[in-house]
Amino acid sequence: MQTTSIVSRGTQNTKNYKHMTAEEVKALIRNVPDFPIKGIQFKDITTALDNPEGLKWMRDEIVKRYKDLGITQVVGIESRGFILAPAVAMEIGAGFVPIRKPGKLPAETVEVSYAKEYGTDVIQIHKDALNEKDVVLLHDDILATGGSMAAAIDLVRKLGVKKIYVNCLIELEGLPGRKILAEKGAEVDCLFGIEVDE
Ligand code: AMP
Repeated sequence: MQTTSIVSRGTQNTKNYKHMTAEEVKALIRNVPDFPIKGIQFKDITTALDNPEGLKWMRDEIVKRYKDLGITQVVGIESRGFILAPAVAMEIGAGFVPIRKPGKLPAETVEVSYAKEYGTDVIQIHKDALNEKDVVLLHDDILATGGSMAAAIDLVRKLGVKKIYVNCLIELEGLPGRKILAEKGAEVDCLFGIEVDE
């Protein structure tokens, strides 16, 4: 019978977390070819999230990197940025703020539109969610071309925040995402680098 030190998904409750390496957690991320359209190598993080030790490792790793930076709000980008951002926020003593697609936030919003491969997209944030005293950690699952994170930076800057850090679980290497964000003056840090065609 095959044995493994890693608890597989949904099979048992894990109270005594075993230590995983970054490489072991990275190996949990599933590649789904040709999703949502032909030619895209979709990085599916659900297979790392449903592993109790993988889930905890990712949260702890982000916490370790950002806990001493005076972050006041962790801002998650809809929708996969919502998964770990609140868990991180609670650990580092920050609040959680969502960036959402249009028509979802109930109070007054500010918005940014940005070009996508096909057409444009709009993202919104509550106008009173952040202010000039905030040190913000922007979080999403994947940094690809950098278009959506660049728009998120522009959006939180509209609210006059003091400082912005950017974190993604995965950086798709070979795409210009990191360079585009660096040109915006954002400090970018990702847990895993994966070649875009891998
Ligand atoms: P981008 O604006 O090109 O940096 O794309 C980032 C957003 O698109 C993130 O919110 C990701 O969830 C999603 N995304 C882009 N490429 C992929 C991919 N290969 N696999 C999974 N999600 C992706």
